[in-house]
Amino acid sequence: MSNENKQNRRQFLKTTGQAGIAAGLSLTALPALAAHATEHHSEGFAAGAEEIPYNQQPLLYAYAGLEPAIDAMTMEIHYSKHAATYAKNLADAVAAEKVDITKVSLVSLLQSISKYSVKMRNNGGGHYNHEFFWKSMRAPGDSNNPSPQLSAALVKDFGSIDTFKSQFTDAGKNRFGSGWAWLLKNKEGKLVVGSTPNQDNPLMDISDLKGIPLLGLDVWEHAYYLKYQNKRPDYINAWWKIVDWDVVEKRMMNS
Ligand code: MN
Repeated sequence: MSNENKQNRRQFLKTTGQAGIAAGLSLTALPALAAHATEHHSEGFAAGAEEIPYNQQPLLYAYAGLEPAIDAMTMEIHYSKHAATYAKNLADAVAAEKVDITKVSLVSLLQSISKYSVKMRNNGGGHYNHEFFWKSMRAPGDSNNPSPQLSAALVKDFGSIDTFKSQFTDAGKNRFGSGWAWLLKNKEGKLVVGSTPNQDNPLMDISDLKGIPLLGLDVWEHAYYLKYQNKRPDYINAWWKIVDWDVVEKRMMNS
């Protein structure tokens, strides 16, 4: 049993023990309950998040492939300078903090990020978020709408696709300074939107916003300033045209 699981189990026993005694449950029944709770937690939450390799992956499109929503020069600088630096600094932090990446996935590292340095938090998040972001976009095409199944899930939890888009846009517009807007599935299984500061994300144990990310938007100025300058809302409105909804749906189905 990992330290994290032991800790979860202890916390579970501590809280459930009190409730169990109050409810007249036998203490001997608690370990079995605890094991079940840990298992359930990892199936429904940890295991459902998209894994990302520790090193930077090739883009699935050319730097100019997302124009006009995102211009080629922004993509080139963003991918080959900003994101490459997060990946390099993550590799340095992993080496310095002796993380065995053959055993600890990036998702599980982020889920226990409070145990690591600020450098690990900023660059582990930075690398994960950018790789996740690149995969969330595709060249603008004829049809760019959520599939019936994803549409139904969005309508169920937001009322309409337009309401979802406007809440997500607001989350990105209103994030003060640098950060990310997210669509995520929370632990109740509901789709929600929100934002995180800097390079934090909803997988992190230190994050106020928690859940399984399904779609993320980079609202740092480096993501849009060359083309949009101070007009972050224009960048977000253009970005909707290049969202890869098939990827979002796949993440939802696996979560
Ligand atoms: Mn960025």
